[in-house]
Amino acid sequence: METKPNPKTPLKNVDDKKKVGEKKSEEDRIVSDKISENPMSRHLNRKRKIIWFNPPYNSAVKSNIGKRFLSLVEKHFPKRHRFSKIFNRNTIKLSYSCSANMKSVISSHNKSILKSNNDTASKMCNCRDKSNCPLNGQCQQEAVIYKATVKTSDDAVKEYIGCSEPPFKQRFANHTQSFNKAAHKNSTRLSQYVWDLKDQSAIFSIKWDIQARSSKYKCGTGKCDLCLAEKLSILKSNPDVSLNKRSEIANKCRHKNK
Ligand SMILES: [Zn+2]
Ligand SMILES: [Zn+2]
Repeated sequence: METKPNPKTPLKNVDDKKKVGEKKSEEDRIVSDKISENPMSRHLNRKRKIIWFNPPYNSAVKSNIGKRFLSLVEKHFPKRHRFSKIFNRNTIKLSYSCSANMKSVISSHNKSILKSNNDTASKMCNCRDKSNCPLNGQCQQEAVIYKATVKTSDDAVKEYIGCSEPPFKQRFANHTQSFNKAAHKNSTRLSQYVWDLKDQSAIFSIKWDIQARSSKYKCGTGKCDLCLAEKLSILKSNPDVSLNKRSEIANKCRHKNK
């Protein structure tokens, strides 16, 4: 069986492929050694393994921690030291960890609110029959927290809170599918409830409305306002009528996997 060539490495002939195989086995050798041994190594550009030191930031500290820290590294791991290849100025980096300051928190909040206002003005609904829109002419809204209220003929009310990053209508289509296809019966707590009602052949109606608006997850920010808003809505909902599980509050953000 032929080994799959590394897509990052342009391979010219069979010999080169063999060399790649060799290199994988001697991964922990030092890059400089490899370059001298093998001319193909230049193309590999293996990432340096960097150890980060993240002391928390404190404005009261006046001493130059970075300089002192790196001089300690040099002092205790000199060139002749057997660990100097692991611990040296090239492999150890220093960075302050600090939370965003008030100004950046406020400005990002304002920015997201102003941006979502512009977005909502441009697209609202694309239903052919506006009177049949699931969300009263707002089905194209993105990054919303929605609430589904299920009412049965004997006045039992249940609520389900969810969030949708793409336009609500896409999420709505998925929900509708889960109500109709038995294979998707357990996809949400709402669909489970709807199927329970169907099994009891109860008459029910579902009303959808927007509970809150948020902003989409932006890569690199590390926080998801949409999930946070959804969890807040679940927390604020009445536990007697809510279909959401309390454990949903601990769920990991799904939007970060982009
Ligand atoms: Zn619509
Ligand atoms: Zn999220």
